[in-house]
Amino acid sequence: MIELTPLWVAGSPVHGDATLEVRHPYDDHLVATTTYATDAQVEQAVAAADAVRHEAAALPIHVRAEALAAIGRAIDERSDEIACLITAENGKPLVWARAEVGRAVSVFRVAAEATRTWSGEVMRLDTDKAAEGRLAYISRVPKGPVLAITPFNFPLNLVAHKVAPAIAVGAPVVVKPAPKTPLSALLLGEIIAGVGLPAGMVSVINVPDERAPELVADGRLPVVSFTGSGPVGAAIAAAVPHKHVVLELGGNAAAYVAADFDRPGDLDWAAQRIATFANYQAGQSCVGVQRVYADSDVYESLKERLVAAVEALRTGDPNDERTQVGPLINRAAAERVGTWVTEAVAAGARVLTGGVRTGTTYAPTVLEDAPGDAKVVCEEIFGPVLVLQRVDGADDALRRINDSKFGLQAGVFTHDIQLAFQAHRVLEVGGVIIGDVPSYRADQMPYGGVKASGVGREGVRYTMADYTYERVMVLTGI
Ligand code: NAD
Repeated sequence: MIELTPLWVAGSPVHGDATLEVRHPYDDHLVATTTYATDAQVEQAVAAADAVRHEAAALPIHVRAEALAAIGRAIDERSDEIACLITAENGKPLVWARAEVGRAVSVFRVAAEATRTWSGEVMRLDTDKAAEGRLAYISRVPKGPVLAITPFNFPLNLVAHKVAPAIAVGAPVVVKPAPKTPLSALLLGEIIAGVGLPAGMVSVINVPDERAPELVADGRLPVVSFTGSGPVGAAIAAAVPHKHVVLELGGNAAAYVAADFDRPGDLDWAAQRIATFANYQAGQSCVGVQRVYADSDVYESLKERLVAAVEALRTGDPNDERTQVGPLINRAAAERVGTWVTEAVAAGARVLTGGVRTGTTYAPTVLEDAPGDAKVVCEEIFGPVLVLQRVDGADDALRRINDSKFGLQAGVFTHDIQLAFQAHRVLEVGGVIIGDVPSYRADQMPYGGVKASGVGREGVRYTMADYTYERVMVLTGI
């Protein structure tokens, strides 16, 4: 018997009217049913967020910090259950689902610490004679309730990255998870309802894509924090130019393996990391490795190791503890990946390994010499496919990395500190990872893109800054 998973509106479990079925991406079996919120329930969630905004902003720091810590503990205590739920709704292997739960625990812990030191600033203004006797007190005030819209690929952690900073600054938040993967977000709603925050501070509701624009346009939600695809992000930004919109969008992240990265064990490490992070989440990660550039001196050695490392990845049933690469989110996604590979091959690319679809699973694939205008190079593949390309030194590699409409993160395998700083100076991305893949992220660091990869930054403190504005009080006659 499949239970009906409730929505969480202003701290209470409710059921909408239209049914939403959640099916397992690997074999399409029915995992759970939930519902879409009715118009009245959407209104109740937004009205509650609006009504509680002043109370939320005035919550004492210790109350927010203790609530955040309690949420982190509760996720940790239920980590096995939540990991299984993520695997069931998203199809990512258990090993990666557990990693995601661990990251979500970390986000709430980091937010609990951050809110304790989230304080005002005092600024002396008497830097010229006219301002003698004046002093400024500056505090950060929530911009208002946040609408958090999240994608399917990290169904828990990307919700955590929007909700924890909101609680930390005292901003209510209405979460609209991806309809393909709503279950772990709804379970988070249940956990949050149990920690004693004011009702209305957090709601988690399913809303179909076609009704989402109404929510985006609602004036009572002045902040829209969106993670998802570029076209939807662009439509949101265009629809509400007067709102504060954060966009965390796609990418075609690149890694560069420089000629100096050739000490004992170096190329094994690079190959292992690239193979893993081109294929984790079946390539459905905005910072998954998609393009790999290697200098001629190391190219053949890297290629040999990379193909071996990719072929060693175990692909298949995500519930099998040994599986490293699971299915894509649905058959259409796996078919699209196959089409893009076929197109690249027709344009001259060579398949070094992979290139085969089985149901919703696509074999980890390495392509060589794909033309620069092939979709597998210039668009976001969002599948377990990487393209390997020989380059002629650092300038060539960095130019090619920048030759993309995206700019999220890049990885540079080098020991050369000058090259590390050159990469950091010239790469048009939000993060440069030296000695590792572009996929590295720690929850406290600033994270986000430039160009078509987005606007604004996440990372707990950066999101807290983003959800708030400075309000100055000038004291006279001090
Ligand atoms: P998507 O854009 O299809 O959906 C994302 C969310 O937007 C979902 O909740 C969806 O229901 C909602 N949505 C759809 N239409 C909408 C509309 N008209 N108005 C408002 N909301 C709407 O993305 P997806 O397929 O779920 O996720 C994959 C994309 O997310 C990839 O492009 C990936 O790179 C990106 N992503 C980016 C980051 C990052 O941090 N930069 C992280 C993860 C995923």
